[in-house]
Amino acid sequence: METGKENKIIKSESAANEKASTRRGFLKLSLLAGGVALAGAEVTRMLAGPKTSNGEKIKLLSKDGKLVEVDSANVHAVVVDSTAGTNIRQGVPGKKFVRVIDLARCSNERACIEGCQKQHNLLPPIEWIKVKKMQDVEMESPYWFPQMCYHCDNPPCTKVCPVDATFKRSDGLVQTDNSRCIGCKFCMAACPYSARSFNFGRPEQTAYFEKHKDDPGICPTSKPENYGTVSKCDGCPDDMAKGILPACVRKCPNGVIFYGDENEDTVSNGDEIFQLSALLTERAGYRQFDTLGTKPRTYYLPPVKRNFPFQEAKEKHNTQE
Ligand code: SF4
Ligand code: SF4
Repeated sequence: METGKENKIIKSESAANEKASTRRGFLKLSLLAGGVALAGAEVTRMLAGPKTSNGEKIKLLSKDGKLVEVDSANVHAVVVDSTAGTNIRQGVPGKKFVRVIDLARCSNERACIEGCQKQHNLLPPIEWIKVKKMQDVEMESPYWFPQMCYHCDNPPCTKVCPVDATFKRSDGLVQTDNSRCIGCKFCMAACPYSARSFNFGRPEQTAYFEKHKDDPGICPTSKPENYGTVSKCDGCPDDMAKGILPACVRKCPNGVIFYGDENEDTVSNGDEIFQLSALLTERAGYRQFDTLGTKPRTYYLPPVKRNFPFQEAKEKHNTQE
């Protein structure tokens, strides 16, 4: 059975040994990602001066395509700008967030959904991530297809909002300001991917929001608890500003979802780092309904050489909004 990792572009040797341990923080990974964006000579400049070797080597891919190996003791963390903070309209400076979903690895564990629901205090029927069974014709084998807001570069949803409650940020994320939203649902109708949900203020959902509103790790930017408003995947902007991968990426046991920065040409699932452009070229990455011109910032890798045989879902997926 193929592992799908033959397409790996770069990966730290230590990460391979730590596969069974908890996922590495994006902060640690981001120092590798930072190295990717640097020219070979510049890589040396991010080293923190000579320190005693601990024997651990890290490979960095330079901008000109050369692999360089450095001692991990001599690499310091890149400071991630967190100025986006609580200002929902301000993107993280210098970033263009991008997502890649490897369909060959998805076995519908629903861990991404559970991680997202907890991070944002959502209860069904509100779900920002859906994992759909896909099968175009009977002769083809079905496969699982995680779907969420794609943070389109040409988003029809933002164009129809009469009160500028949903908008595109400089870092590529499309956000919704729930204190401004009037609940007209125009954006829901405009989104060709059905990525948005309406909060009808169901009592159990409202009580759940109230109970968990001060939980650690809750995203302060999005306010889906404002009933009578529309919400959707926000791309975990507060985590990303701190250099932490979104909950869906962290929770997936199969490493299906990759997140990263198009400006750095790098994506990671917490265990592996890929050069975005090479990954998309070599694995024939595509965007859903690309001909619509929405320019999603989410790419799919086709489900060839799958890691798992297809199994029907144990749980029924929510079909309501
Ligand atoms: S996927 Fe839908 S909601 Fe998300 S940016 Fe694109 S059009 Fe808007
Ligand atoms: S539901 Fe809210 S975000 Fe969507 S178009 Fe109407 S006001 Fe804008």
